[in-house]
Formats: sequence, C-alpha cells, structure tokens
Amino acid sequence: MKACLLRTPAKIESNPLQCVEVADPIPSAGQVLVRVRVCGVCRTDLHVIEGELPQKLSPVIPGHQVVGTVEELGRGAMRFSKGARVGIAWLHQTDGTCEYCRRGEENLCDAPLFTGYSVNGGYAEWIVAPAEFVYPIPEGLADEHAAPLLCAGIIGYRCLRMAQLERGAKLGFYGFGAAAHVAIQVARYWGVDVYASTRDSRHQVLAKELGAKWAGGTTDAPPEELDAAIIFAPAGEIVPAALRALRKGGRLILGGIHMSDIPSFGYDLLYGERMIRSVANNTRQDGEEFLKIAAEIPIHTRVQLYPLAETNRALNALKNDAIAGAAVVQVQAKN
Ligand SMILES: [Zn+2]
Ligand SMILES: [Zn+2]
Repeated sequence: MKACLLRTPAKIESNPLQCVEVADPIPSAGQVLVRVRVCGVCRTDLHVIEGELPQKLSPVIPGHQVVGTVEELGRGAMRFSKGARVGIAWLHQTDGTCEYCRRGEENLCDAPLFTGYSVNGGYAEWIVAPAEFVYPIPEGLADEHAAPLLCAGIIGYRCLRMAQLERGAKLGFYGFGAAAHVAIQVARYWGVDVYASTRDSRHQVLAKELGAKWAGGTTDAPPEELDAAIIFAPAGEIVPAALRALRKGGRLILGGIHMSDIPSFGYDLLYGERMIRSVANNTRQDGEEFLKIAAEIPIHTRVQLYPLAETNRALNALKNDAIAGAAVVQVQAKN
C-alpha cells in the first residue's frame, strides 16, 4: 500500500514524510482492517513529526483522524460488519487493567497506545485498529467533514466539559484552528458566548463568522470577564494572558498535548480561586457522546483537502496558520 512514513523526526519545512510503498497491515485478533478514505491533519502530528513528543516507533505512519470502511475482521472482532463506515482516533488502545482504566479514566491509562504515534496511523491506504476502540460514524456526515471531529472535535468537547459551562456563560478561546472551529459550534448550541483570541486575522474572521461575540489578538483583553477559557494554541506564554481575562473562580483549560514553557507570573493572577487544568487524550465515552451531539447540532467543519502525496504540504500549511478550519488528507478518491 501507499503510506507516508516518518523515519527520523525533523522540522516539517524539510518535508520529512516519505510517500512510499509498504506492506499492507493484517488484522490480529480483535482488530478490524479499515480501508482509509480520509485522514484529518492535527497539530499533534506536527509534535510527533518534529520530535516535540519523544519517538515511540520508527519508522511510523502518522495520522489519527481516520474515516474509512471495515474490510476485514480479525478473529473475534464482532462489533462491526464488513462495509461499516468507522472512525479511528488518537486513543488506539488501553491496557484495561491499570488503576486509571479501572477507575474509568482510560484517557490517563499507564500503558496506552496512540494511533499514528506508538502504532501506525492513517496517512496510508489501510490501517488496523482494535474494534473496541473504533467509532461508528453517524450518517449524514461526509467523510471529509467527519475526520476533523475525531481528534480536534473530541478533545475540544472534553475541554468544553472540563470548563463546566452554564447557558449564558462567557468562554474564551485562545487559538482558533481545527479544534476551536468545532468547539465554538458546540458552545453556541449550549447557549455559551465565545470570545476568540488568536494571532491570525483570518482566524479572527472565521471566529466571527461562526458566531463569536468578539475576536481579537492573542493578548488583547476581551471586553468582558470570562467564566472560563480554553487554550488550544501550544504557546505557554498565553497562560498568564488568559488568567488575566478570567473572573474569580474561573477555569482555564489547556487543550494541547504539548505546550512551550509557561513563563512565571504573579500569584495574584491565579488567586481568587482561579483554576488551571490540562486535558489529556479522551475516553471512548467522550468520543461517543461527542459524535452523537455533532450529528444532532449538526456540526459543519470547514476543510481543506490534500492528496496523500501532499501530506507534508498540508502539515506545513497547518504550521503556518494557513488553514481556515481543518486540513484533511484524501486517501481514496471519491466515488
Ligand atoms: Zn490502563
Ligand atoms: Zn490530534
């Protein structure tokens, strides 16, 4: 099969993914073999490719927002029938036995596997995954519009839940890429007002189009005190600015898997019972709940399509803030 392979982490500007022929994967017991139709591009791919996350598998096929069809069932994989349209996300598998898994916090599992990082991902024609960690994709969502929901969407949803929002709440977003452009639609659906802070003026325009009450630069003070804020951008220097915008008792949620160092700041920014919480991965329940809500709203994603051979170009565009919405790699031509 054709696949985009990363051998050694390097800056994306050097186009480190090589589009080559590799052996087709074979489903083991409990796994399904999925023919990839599309795979969404996520900032975490950049962290994997550029080595900000320690290398787990080499070579590795990145990509963890896969939409495709089940084509073969491994022994005992009963959950889907052949031809089912499914999604494969970042959380590839957990051990199911550690104290976090037993506590229902499988997103914090001590021995997890991650798609496109510790096992091969979706920038390829075929992929295998445990059936129990695969999501049915609701009807009515086109492949390329469903793909960005699988990481950007699910993680954004978990961030929104952690922010504990009530109707009428004032919520800040820092960074307005793939995750935020989905999360704002859920927030609006819940009757929450969104204030978007982002360095790129095109992203400010997109935020306004999607119903943000206000959009401004990253460190501009929003016109109202915020009940909660979510930082999607991987920049630690935003933390003090976001704390400054929060009311007493407000919550600051950090949505990224990687962030540059947070500069020191005075205790007064945190005092007043403000809280900071990171979000790490997601549980399958988050994914199932979110996909249900996404179909109910329904969420519209803005996508920019790239062919598999141009995955490097898609990732360069993401790094340069040149994507309005989400980038999606189209692996299989549309019928
Ligand atoms: Zn575990
Ligand atoms: Zn992701």
